[in-house]
Amino acid sequence: MNNKVKTEWKKCDNCGFLQHKSHLRCLNCKNDKFTLMEASGECKLITFTILYAPPAEFRDKPSYALGVVQFENGIKAIGQVSTQENLLIGMKLKPVYRKICENLDGKEVNAYVFEPTL
Ligand SMILES: [Zn+2]
Repeated sequence: MNNKVKTEWKKCDNCGFLQHKSHLRCLNCKNDKFTLMEASGECKLITFTILYAPPAEFRDKPSYALGVVQFENGIKAIGQVSTQENLLIGMKLKPVYRKICENLDGKEVNAYVFEPTL
């Protein structure tokens, strides 16, 4: 299983600003030429929270950790963190694509979960 994270980021070819791909022009310099960006490899934890009242899809869990991570090329992503223990801002994580829950129709839902790398 690969650990490339599909992201929706693009980098301005003029000033290097990173932004969501839905923007037609650079939010910083108004340029309209971009390079699509992909995240891969390790990332670091920027911030996190513990959800104690998860959505109904996560009915099998009393709580879980949700984190914002940043990859080496500057791309940020949000997702579940595999543990709620010993989380520290700046710690190294890696993305792993796996089942996160079953939706309310009983279908398996997969997404990236960020796991500590040790
Ligand atoms: Zn720009």
